[in-house]
Amino acid sequence: MGAGERYRVAMCGALLVLAGCTPATPNPASPAPPATITATTTGGASPVTPTPGPSPTARPFDRAAALATVAHLADYGPREARSAAYRKAAEWVRTRFESYGYTVSSQEFPIPAGKSWGISVHAGYSHNVIADPPGFDPAAPHLVIGAHLDTVPQSPGAEDNASGVAVMLELARMLAEQPAGLPVRFIAFGAEEPRGSGDRLHHFGSQYYVAQLGDTARSVKAMVALDRVGAPGPAVPISFGGKGTGAVRDQLVAAAGTIPVTVRESNRTSDHWSFEKAGIPAARLGSIPYAGYHSAGDVPSVVDGAQLAAAGAITWNWLRAQPA
Ligand SMILES: [Zn+2]
Repeated sequence: MGAGERYRVAMCGALLVLAGCTPATPNPASPAPPATITATTTGGASPVTPTPGPSPTARPFDRAAALATVAHLADYGPREARSAAYRKAAEWVRTRFESYGYTVSSQEFPIPAGKSWGISVHAGYSHNVIADPPGFDPAAPHLVIGAHLDTVPQSPGAEDNASGVAVMLELARMLAEQPAGLPVRFIAFGAEEPRGSGDRLHHFGSQYYVAQLGDTARSVKAMVALDRVGAPGPAVPISFGGKGTGAVRDQLVAAAGTIPVTVRESNRTSDHWSFEKAGIPAARLGSIPYAGYHSAGDVPSVVDGAQLAAAGAITWNWLRAQPA
């Protein structure tokens, strides 16, 4: 049992105290609907129409579960886009989506050799993990929530970007329990991190995804990237690339309500930029600077549960406000 293993056990102990270690515990705030009362009518002339029950309410954002995801993903070590650790982490993310009832596919794409944050990396393949709700049709209007799963070669990537994946998985769990007006496709992107300088050598997974959309691009009504959403700070940064529409950013700011936000423009350093370049309305949550950035110091203690919950709440409110 390594140090990481002990950490996981400790996390599970904490989870047991906070929320129990079993997934999908019923929300104590949502009592079970009353048992159906069967009415009988004499003569059988008019059938009894059952009163519809309350619409389902998702169990709230679970900080402990999100922090456990961060710790688990960091435990794989650096998840460079073509590494075995990346593939293992992606497989784990797939099983998590499937446990919530999503249909998951893998989208492979080539990546070049190059230098990633000063370290030589080889050419090869990475893949996106794409999770769709039941009955999903990519040609019908939908939203995309994305978070990159890969890291630079020297970092276990707790904040960059296990934090975004952790919030994404919680949102996927919540939406499975309480769907929004528009269907939502979730994507864990591979190879977001640069393998050289310039736009072309960055965001490979999302650039590939967008390039494959063809006519269905117009079905993507909006995209939100969750990237570095756990470093503690006084506010949640919300940005877009400054090229396309700022509508999604503005909607996210409105969805924040009383949660403090920092409104930014011209942030082009995450997967939202691939969508924005293709004319799809997009925005990004996150990007507070922190000491362990792109280093071995990007460990779970960097990540703050309250900050994850704030990013989750903003995105959840935004999802609920989208017209069907
Ligand atoms: Zn990142």
